[in-house]
Amino acid sequence: MAKISINLATGSFQKEEIIVGIDLGTTNSLVAFINPDKNPQVINDAGKGILIPSVVYFNGQNEAVVGNEAKEYLTTDPSNTIFSVKRLLGRSYKDVAEHKDIFSYKIIDDDSDALVKIHAGDRFYTPIELSGEILKELKARAEHALKTPVNRAVITVPAYFNDSQRQATRDAGKLAGLDVMRIVNEPTAASLAYGIGLDPSQQKTIAVYDLGGGTFDVSILQIQNGIFEVLATNGNTYLGGDDFDRAILNYWLEKNNLDVAEVAQNNILMQTLRLQAEAAKKALSTQNLYNEQVGDIWCTLDKQTFEALISSKVEETITACKNALKDADLSVSDIDEVILVGGSTRTPYVKQAVENFFGKKPQDNINPDEVVALGAAIQADVLAGNRSDILLLDVTPLSLGIETMGGLMDVIIARNSKVPTKAGRQYTTSIDGQVNMKISVYQGERDLVRENRKLAEFDLKGIPAMPAGLPKVDINFLLNADGILTVQAIELRSGVKQEIEITPSYGLSDDTVEKMLLDSIEHAKSDVEQRMLIEARSEGEQLVYTAEGFIKKHAEHLTEAEIAETVSYIEALKTALATHEKDTILKKADDLNEFTRPFAERVMDAAISTAMKGKKIE
Ligand code: AMP
Repeated sequence: MAKISINLATGSFQKEEIIVGIDLGTTNSLVAFINPDKNPQVINDAGKGILIPSVVYFNGQNEAVVGNEAKEYLTTDPSNTIFSVKRLLGRSYKDVAEHKDIFSYKIIDDDSDALVKIHAGDRFYTPIELSGEILKELKARAEHALKTPVNRAVITVPAYFNDSQRQATRDAGKLAGLDVMRIVNEPTAASLAYGIGLDPSQQKTIAVYDLGGGTFDVSILQIQNGIFEVLATNGNTYLGGDDFDRAILNYWLEKNNLDVAEVAQNNILMQTLRLQAEAAKKALSTQNLYNEQVGDIWCTLDKQTFEALISSKVEETITACKNALKDADLSVSDIDEVILVGGSTRTPYVKQAVENFFGKKPQDNINPDEVVALGAAIQADVLAGNRSDILLLDVTPLSLGIETMGGLMDVIIARNSKVPTKAGRQYTTSIDGQVNMKISVYQGERDLVRENRKLAEFDLKGIPAMPAGLPKVDINFLLNADGILTVQAIELRSGVKQEIEITPSYGLSDDTVEKMLLDSIEHAKSDVEQRMLIEARSEGEQLVYTAEGFIKKHAEHLTEAEIAETVSYIEALKTALATHEKDTILKKADDLNEFTRPFAERVMDAAISTAMKGKKIE
């Protein structure tokens, strides 16, 4: 392997190699780089288009097809065509259940607290794997267009993404064979694209208004000494240009005296009308009247009517802006710049509404679909050390985290995080009545702790005995400006607390750091695969534990045959657990869940009716 030197101050590599910026979007994704003229530029590989639909289709052989080609299967083979996977990244079924109707593919709902999985073809996929497929396609296109290997990237995420969603995005990058140099907030990237924040002496407060096809968010950022701080975010992850299209469609159906339910039966007609509605909306961004015909349906719309149709939706976005300002404790006059992101900000009515609210003209010179990827490319260039004019903050060169089930590394402070910093996460117990919890602190980039460097270990003792999953243990990492890490564990229900201090850099030579980073890159893909197997195993083992406990405790509510069959499903899952095959384990876990689900409901009903006995209902 070629020797690459690493800048310890930034944790980044110093070789002349292109680092790309990637906007991994809900609807579309794209990739950008800094061209030889030192300007950010989006990649259009072989004229296939800049925007790559974030859609993955699995054919009969479980092979993934990504982009426009996959999009064509949305109508013909919806159950094997995965769209909007970003909505599922790092989320549990509980998080997405409310909106499950929008997904045409099968989301596994066995355990509402575990991360979701998707069933397509005869396999189970995690959103990480699916996003990994999209990133693989972006990487391939970038390599083809730039005629050079692309191994490193900066990937953007919404400012409101939590730790688990950010980690999932990182993992997806690893699966695609990318070293993810940094996860950057989309509004931060958009600001960088406009050159805001590049001058360290600049101090500004900005609002980034992002209205895409299916999501809306607004972020208030404060830039000071080259540091971007998100003061507040607000929005609605189920509001966007698609709603405008739907409003137009319904208007046309009404004008043509057509029954929505009846037309909905005809999938192809619906699809054609929806596309026509989108075309009308786009046309009305530059003209005053749209007039077309689909069969004998008149598709006419003037600008004024269109604006009336969308006004309540746009008003909703403005309310979100008000709320974001309120949360940031600011008023409109405090905002120095307003930036527009997302295809739907091309609608003049939207632009005007934003201008009216903030009382200033928003920045809209850069293509709103491309601005985030362009900014990510600039951030990548900064990390590559190519912009000496930009202040580089003191960052931690290796990730810090703790050991979780199956010997996995759970990163709490990611490598390249600026110091001082603090971060935390909540954990729980996996066994009923567990009173101690061992907390092992590690440093490094590998997914298995045994490949990383152990920094410390301590026991949180005296957790009151409770059923598994009930205790809430907060683990907080605080890394101060001198590089000293304080780890604190506290059980919230009882207040039991324990704390230690560590110096992570102690005894670490530059060579060791370099070796640890290079190892992590070399093993990235196999690490993530191993991580997913371990997660499937832990889930499976937990399910065996719960199911065995359940049939013991609630035997009186089950028939003998039911118990026997449950036992045979448990045995099948145990056999699967011994195989070390992720898909087999997930399949058997799913089978056991499907079979036992009605029993849980039965026990619940019995419990409710017992509770009701003797109680008077007024
Ligand atoms: P994004 O998710 O940022 O790619 O935004 C996609 C949304 O922008 C879709 O709802 C598009 O219909 C919408 N869009 C694209 N071009 C225009 C345009 N010229 N006028 C209005 N909306 C547009």
